[in-house]
Amino acid sequence: MLKNNLMSIGFYDLVKESLRDIGTDIEDLEELEADAGLGNGGLGRLAACFLDSLASLDYCGNGNTIRYKNGLFKQLIENNEQVEVPDQWLRIDNPFEVRKPDKTVDVRYYGDVEVSRGENGGLIFHRYNTEHVLAVPYDMPIVGENSTTCNLLRMWSAEPSDDIPAGRDYRKYLSDVDDICLNLYPDDSTEEGRILRIKQEYFFVAAGLGSIIRDHLYTFGRLDNLADKVVIQLNDTHPALAITELMRILMDNYSFEWDDAWTMTKKVFAYTNHTVMQEALEKWPCAYIKKLLPRNYMIIEEIDRRFRSYLYDLGKTPAFIESVAIISENSVRMANLSIVGSFSVNGVAKIHSDIIKNNTFANLYEVFPERFNNKTNGVTPRRWLFYSNPELCSLIEKYIGKGFRKDFNRIADLLNHVDDPELQEAFLRVKKQKKKDFAKFLERSFPEMDIDPNTIFDVQIKRLHAYKRQLLNIMYVMSLYFRIKEDPMFTMEKTTFVFGAKAATSYHFAKKVIKLINCVSEVIRKDEQVSKFINVVFVPNYRVTVAEKLIPASDISEQISTAGKEASGTGNMKFMMNGALTLGTLDGANVEIRELVGDDNCVIFGLHEDEVTAMKVAGYRAFSYYQEDPLLHRIIDSLTDGTWSSDRDDFKIISDEFLINNDEYMLLADFRSYLEAHDRIYQIYRDKHAYARKCLINIAKSAYFSSDRTIQEYVDDIWHLDKVHK
Ligand SMILES: *Cc1c(COP(=O)(O)O)cnc(C)c1O
Repeated sequence: MLKNNLMSIGFYDLVKESLRDIGTDIEDLEELEADAGLGNGGLGRLAACFLDSLASLDYCGNGNTIRYKNGLFKQLIENNEQVEVPDQWLRIDNPFEVRKPDKTVDVRYYGDVEVSRGENGGLIFHRYNTEHVLAVPYDMPIVGENSTTCNLLRMWSAEPSDDIPAGRDYRKYLSDVDDICLNLYPDDSTEEGRILRIKQEYFFVAAGLGSIIRDHLYTFGRLDNLADKVVIQLNDTHPALAITELMRILMDNYSFEWDDAWTMTKKVFAYTNHTVMQEALEKWPCAYIKKLLPRNYMIIEEIDRRFRSYLYDLGKTPAFIESVAIISENSVRMANLSIVGSFSVNGVAKIHSDIIKNNTFANLYEVFPERFNNKTNGVTPRRWLFYSNPELCSLIEKYIGKGFRKDFNRIADLLNHVDDPELQEAFLRVKKQKKKDFAKFLERSFPEMDIDPNTIFDVQIKRLHAYKRQLLNIMYVMSLYFRIKEDPMFTMEKTTFVFGAKAATSYHFAKKVIKLINCVSEVIRKDEQVSKFINVVFVPNYRVTVAEKLIPASDISEQISTAGKEASGTGNMKFMMNGALTLGTLDGANVEIRELVGDDNCVIFGLHEDEVTAMKVAGYRAFSYYQEDPLLHRIIDSLTDGTWSSDRDDFKIISDEFLINNDEYMLLADFRSYLEAHDRIYQIYRDKHAYARKCLINIAKSAYFSSDRTIQEYVDDIWHLDKVHK
């Protein structure tokens, strides 16, 4: 935040020089600041880019989140394995936050609902015996660049209330309150610690809505114009209970009739879907919600009942109705609730938006076709290019001037210069410098790690998930190892394979992949012959700070998920902006990267999404690849024959994934194509000028992936905001 904020207000150089006068290096100061422990990976990072773009484009838009005491764990690597330690990111204080006790919201859990008749004969719902928790906001300013708009990221923190139900154990109450903001869940794709997780979700939703309603009433004194002034974008289903909470507030606190409340609610909410992975679509047991939030549960039941009845009247079959219902098999489907209760449903890349329409939510699309739309993700060029790669920006500036800093579309002017050999060479010099900088950064934290800036940096950094296929990448490295061992004449351009990834605490398979990468790294490091050509580096504790330093130093951007599984990806965009070539499947935003730069300027491989589906339908047999491809046979055998670990059972779970579980993410089907893609990229690398030209074309075409473009689309199609007047 320090660097970002100083850069945004244009004071960075001044402060840097002033600090130097008093003997302080601003970079030492920057290193003291911990990364905000507010997110898991791409989802939270996307929200941060959006806030940056909103402020920089002079739009009013605020974020709501939980002020987690512990962010996602800090990752250490010990004996080649992931070790988790708490990330107490607030320990030395967060100087950017402001506690606002006067904006506290009372959040209520449990209890019972009393129903009575009002004067006009309508039903009145009254909650009693509830447990009160105070939600206290801590606001962080979101400072845009070249703008006077300053928005807020409102982080809600739970504190005990004076209002404790009679007979409630006081100490237990205090610790229950503390638990709400204690930990960020280490995975946004599983549903662990289920009741506490629902408690968290309702906590920041009830707090956020409470403050939105209070502010609106303060300004306008009425709620009938709420939807004209407020839109709430649900960033995945985690805040979907907000739909039920607004219904509750409108009906129970402000006497709205059901129909009026429902019409208003559907005008306020818009929903962004971020995943098609079935196990990542939230489903909460009805019993949990009913106990924790009895009044909200009644509202969910009524939304479901009315929706079913609406579909019945449309003549839909019982099977169809069941498939789109909100409550089914004693669970609440949060995505269905989000779609039914909002006016806009968007995916995050073209291919993903098509998949949710035609597959994931096909039946809901049939009912509400006008709601579905696409908003391809973007990243802020300020953090991910201007601030993290000033050397590249200065170079670009020499050719096209400063204009691209204010209007990033102007970066396209660089296309006029990509054939200039001087620019090409200067680009390669910047890349080399960034590699040296990264090597130094790494050495400061991990003196034992050795990284050679005179090598190709082939980089895969993202959360560890089976579908992202870090395993496919390390299997390619294993294949190189065998080739080098067998062929004394073998030669290749020396390459550093860089990995960075955290595995969710309870994700056993993912942790084994991390161990495998580290074991392969160790075996290669100790092998004089192989380490002449390849080096594998696993960077511990991958996070935004690491990404900012590593991406500008990268040559190859590994984006190799099974086609159809990665909704968009945003790492791919950060690499492109910094002039790395995408080595990827036709998945997520890779599809649009290829559309923009053309096949000559990226390296695409693997099955397409429809081929993945067709192959599964036809009966995919992983075992036949093992039988018929001697190289794959050798690699899979090496997982259990002691090549990488003296404990032969260490990687049995990985071997079993291929030989017993039939390779769910079809690594074996894509393996040969992946090898061939590497051949192509090494071929490109041989001609340094041609290679640099391709990188420059990527940079020049990257304006589309600025979150400024994404935010403008949200504004035009969904939010309809006016600029804040200066
Ligand atoms: C951008 C980013 C991500 C998302 O990366 P993907 O490759 O899109 O999965 C995850 N973590 C961090 C720290 C990031 O900066």
